[in-house]
Parts: sequence; C-alpha cells; structure tokens
Amino acid sequence: MKHEMITIRCPLCGENDHVTVNEANLDSLENAFDYLTESPTHYRIVRCRQCGMEYSNPILTEEAILDLYKTGKVDNCVKTDEERSIRANMRRYVDRLIRHSGILEGRLLDIGCGCGHLLEYAHGLGFDVAGIDPGRNAVEYARSLVKDGDIREGKFEAGLFPEASFDLITCIHVIDHVIDPKEIIETSAKYLKKGGWMFIATHNMNSWLAKISGTNFIAYSIQHIGYFTPQLLSKMAAECGLTPASTQSSLSTYTLNHYAENGFRSPALRKCALKCLKALHLGNVQLSFPFGNMELTARKD
Ligand SMILES: [Zn+2]
Repeated sequence: MKHEMITIRCPLCGENDHVTVNEANLDSLENAFDYLTESPTHYRIVRCRQCGMEYSNPILTEEAILDLYKTGKVDNCVKTDEERSIRANMRRYVDRLIRHSGILEGRLLDIGCGCGHLLEYAHGLGFDVAGIDPGRNAVEYARSLVKDGDIREGKFEAGLFPEASFDLITCIHVIDHVIDPKEIIETSAKYLKKGGWMFIATHNMNSWLAKISGTNFIAYSIQHIGYFTPQLLSKMAAECGLTPASTQSSLSTYTLNHYAENGFRSPALRKCALKCLKALHLGNVQLSFPFGNMELTARKD
C-alpha cells in the first residue's frame, strides 16, 4: 500500500501498550470506503494492555481517511432494496431513543448522517433536524430527502453549532470510524441541552457473533478504528461528561443478499450463497438479526 501510515495511542485511555490480536489485511482499498460496505480489508488490530480496548494501529492519516470518505459511493443505500432496510434500522434507532429519553419534540443532530435516512424519519416525526457527514455524495442525497434540514458536508467538530442547542444527538456507526471518539462525545455533550440525550450505535466485541467469528468478525474492516464493548463505551461516555443510561444489543435489518455479500469472508462461499439466493428468488427478502451491534443511550445531566 502506497499510503502513509501513522501509529496511534489507545482511543480510550491514551496509553501506548498493546498486543496484536489480528494481523493487517491490506490487499485492496478498492470500494473499501463505500457506504454500507464491510470490506474484509483491515489494519493490524491491537488490544490495549491497560484498558482492554481493541483498536487499529497503525492506520492511514486522518486527511487520507477523510478523503476516502469524501468520494465514497452511496449506490448501495440509494433507491435499492437495501434502502428499505436502512430505513427500518434508522426508524428502530430513533424510536428507541425516544422511548428511553421521553423526548418527543425539539432539535435533533445526526453525526455522520450518511444519506439522511435517520433525519428523514425524525423530520417526519416533527423534529427540527441537523446532520453532518464527510461524504459529498451522501450529503447530496440527504439534502434531497430532507429539504429544510440543516445538513452539512465536512468533519464533525467543536464550533459548528451553538452550545446547548440540541435535545437529541444520534451517532450511528460513526464512533468506531474516527481516530478520536472521545472528542466526538465530548463535543456532543457540549452541543446537548441539559436533560438532552445521546444515542450511539457501534459494533459489540462482546457479542456472540464477535466471539464465534474471532479474527474473522465482520466488524474488522479498514473503516473501523475503535472496537468497543458495552462496558468500554459506557466508560468513555461517562469520561466525556454524559451519564450512561442503558446499553443493549441492536437488531439490524438487511436483505439476505446483503448478509451473503458481507457475511462470508471466503469468496467461494459468498459466490455460492449469492447464487443460491438468486435461484430461489430470496435475495431481496429482509431479515432482522442481532448482527454483532449494540447501542448506548446517555443523558446530559
Ligand atoms: Zn487503553
């Protein structure tokens, strides 16, 4: 690989004391940063000996990563059978956050809003919505879905919005993609009003799927830098000024084609599964399944 690589410290405790748990597989970067892609390409994964968090190290520079997201394709998420699945997932996240928080109206920010499906649903419920994402194609589509939302292209950071201006903040499969997840949560805590809630969804390294798949766990991907457990994510949220309220495993809805496309690391098995689904006309059937993901709700007190 031609790209420059940098070494990083543990995203949770900041130490530089680790053991390798999964050697790098960096054969191809092609399409690895497209939306809804779980490419088997990944960095070397290490486990911090101080706090137990797994993370990618060394990794591409932040500039290189942002560039790759900027041009990431969104074809998988737009006007396909998978778009119905994405809408089902986003609806489930928002409904859960509303149920936990009891907040039924106000201003919602979605960090890493992708193609805008979460914003579309929240807007439909009457929320005033804002979103931000580094993907140019994604933001363009999100704006077409939510015409009067405040949807921005770029990196989420401090100084973008007034402090204490949001009732709800969602962060769906984003925290695992960034070099400094603490910065995201700390900044979110500042943007939240007192009594506001944050909702974070990410992979769960304590899930049964992670445990049975070992080094082949689907979450091991070049898009991911931090690999969380419910305990580590709650600890991080607490250190960033939020009060964790609950963690639970997520149900994920996808088509059988998506499961086959991404669930097999062996190309031969994948091809065979896709062929079978095609022959049986079952590829577009949707299935909800606990796919090794979890979600955290946390409150700003
Ligand atoms: Zn650590």
